[in-house]
Amino acid sequence: MKTKKEKCVHCEELIDSEEGMYFENDDGEHGFICEICEQEAEWDIRIEYLNYSDDEIEFENEEGFEVIEANGYNRVSREFKSEYKRLDGWRGYSYPVVREDATEEWVELVSDNILSMSEDAENLKKLDSAVIEFVRENKIPLARIYSRSSNVFSTGYDLFVPKKHLKKLEMLVRTLKKEYRDKGKYFNTVATGE
Ligand SMILES: [Zn+2]
Repeated sequence: MKTKKEKCVHCEELIDSEEGMYFENDDGEHGFICEICEQEAEWDIRIEYLNYSDDEIEFENEEGFEVIEANGYNRVSREFKSEYKRLDGWRGYSYPVVREDATEEWVELVSDNILSMSEDAENLKKLDSAVIEFVRENKIPLARIYSRSSNVFSTGYDLFVPKKHLKKLEMLVRTLKKEYRDKGKYFNTVATGE
């Protein structure tokens, strides 16, 4: 059988078409990427579901979350897509957006940022643990989404739940935010001037 050679968009090598994949991403970019580059591509958003398995799940992690890692070469999630906010030059960050044709009516419960190795991150972890415990007990579907940014110390953190469950969680989240996020909010305000 005759194999076709394609040029990989990433390493620019000519590769047998069978040793890679054709892609079209959410920005409308399309092309061919070789297997090696595709495997080495870092994710833009990492979606972790609890009590929800109606998406194209890739694997289950040790905490029992169903995980999908989306990069610029795949369109693996039916519910969320990754968008990129460019700040300047190479700086920017990815963030999750609910797809227009998502099957579930996802609404944002928490939108925050993890500053690695900080006290702020420890506080966010406490909020996270409390919400996770609650949704586990009440069997509420949850999407926890991490997003990468050009600042390696900063990772986007978002929680989404189906709209019909929002009411049950609002009070808990308000209390948790007051307890664990007020200080973070203060620092954010100082940093961004908003
Ligand atoms: Zn390649």
